[in-house]
Amino acid sequence: MTVLRKNLIDGEWLGEAGSRNINPSNTNDVVGEYASAGPEQAKQAIAAAKAAFPAWSRSGPLARHAVLKKTSDEIMARKDEIGRSLAREEGKTLAEGVGETIRAAQLFDFFAGETLRLSGEMVPSVRPGVGVEMTREGVGVVGIITPWNFPIAIPAWKIAPALAYGNTIVFKPAELVPESAWTIVDILHRAGLPKGVLNLVMGKGSVVGQAMLDSPDVNAISFTGSVGTGKRVAAASVEHMRKFQLEMGGKNPLVVLDDADLGTAVDCAINGAYFSTGQRCTASSRLIVAEGIHDRFVDAMKERLDKLVIGDALDAKTQIGPVVDQTQLKQDEDYIAIGRQEGAELAFGGDRLERETPGFYLRPALFLGSTNAMRISREEIFGPVANVIRVKDYDEALSVANDTPFGLTSGICTTSLKHATHFKRNSEAGMVMVNLPTAGVDFHVPFGGRKGSSYGPREQGRYAMEFYTTVKTAYTFAG
Ligand code: NAD
Repeated sequence: MTVLRKNLIDGEWLGEAGSRNINPSNTNDVVGEYASAGPEQAKQAIAAAKAAFPAWSRSGPLARHAVLKKTSDEIMARKDEIGRSLAREEGKTLAEGVGETIRAAQLFDFFAGETLRLSGEMVPSVRPGVGVEMTREGVGVVGIITPWNFPIAIPAWKIAPALAYGNTIVFKPAELVPESAWTIVDILHRAGLPKGVLNLVMGKGSVVGQAMLDSPDVNAISFTGSVGTGKRVAAASVEHMRKFQLEMGGKNPLVVLDDADLGTAVDCAINGAYFSTGQRCTASSRLIVAEGIHDRFVDAMKERLDKLVIGDALDAKTQIGPVVDQTQLKQDEDYIAIGRQEGAELAFGGDRLERETPGFYLRPALFLGSTNAMRISREEIFGPVANVIRVKDYDEALSVANDTPFGLTSGICTTSLKHATHFKRNSEAGMVMVNLPTAGVDFHVPFGGRKGSSYGPREQGRYAMEFYTTVKTAYTFAG
């Protein structure tokens, strides 16, 4: 029997059954039932967060530290159970689910520490006898809107700093992954957050999310998701003169030069393009390969692709889980058809796979002979689909890598210090990897991109303070 998970509004669990969550590895498996908030509940949640802000923003560092540390400890202690539940609802593998859960625990731990490190500056005024203090304060009610592909890490990297710096929250997770969202809120609630400080409103983006965008009482919105929704968040936020931060799509390049170590390049490409079923904003979906290594690289990729174990996310042997749902599967297949129509050669995969249970299984696809002008090179597919673009040399590789509307991550595989150094400096991406996959980042350093991928201050690490606080300059004349 499934348990009904309710919304948390002003410290109370509320709501009737509104949606079900299906396991993408086995569509006969219902993960759970969830309340679905309407605009009224969204308004109540915003009002509760507004009422809770004055006291929470003035609470001392110890109160915030206690909640965040306790949350980190519980997530870490339950990493296997939570990681398994995440893999069941999203379709990433068990190892990825547990890894993501550990990362969430680390994020809460990091920001627990930050509560004790908050500092300001004091300078003499240009007027003798006057002192000037610069301090940081919480922004107010923060709306947190998250996507489905990192069901626990992305909520964690927004909720943890928001709370650490004294903000209150209305959290709206993606419809496909309510279980992970509910779990993290349940842990925080039991860790001792005062009522109204963190509110959970599960429900449709067009209803709950839109109510958040339309409310003058939401002082800041941190959004991760698609470019289309991000633009709506931006337009609505400008209308209300509120702070906003957007993390959106990617079409990340991985450059492979002739002097690359072939094993490293193939490891980076397989991991970056296909792990997490390619459903990562940091996925390397464009493989830009120099002509001297091209044929060897392609042969080695096909060999590795053939060995990948694609199956039920909950089977420990699985390396690539299913696509998240029917809609995403259709999008992946549509792009595979588009790639063929555009004249690229589908050299591997792209076909559906049957497994013991009904699920959204797709064999990872690799295109060859593609150009950077094709739609499969320019638009985010968000599935296990990558294309190889053949280039003459490093200069052409860099120019192709930068020729994209996105700029989240980029990578280069090379043994040349000169090219690695030049690429780090000249790649138009927020994060650059040398001999590493484009996906897979640390939790304690800034995360974010450029161009169409991101807008606003960075997330994670100490840089998160920029978004979740506002600066006050106070002058004192002591007489
Ligand atoms: P999405 O834009 O469809 O949804 C994201 C969130 O916005 C969901 O919670 C959704 O319910 C909500 N939403 C939808 N309509 C809304 C509206 N009118 N008002 C307010 N909220 C609304 O994105 P998705 O399909 O869940 O996620 C996939 C996308 O996320 C991909 O483009 C991926 O690249 C991106 N992503 C980016 C990063 C990053 O850090 N750059 C990380 C992960 C995912």
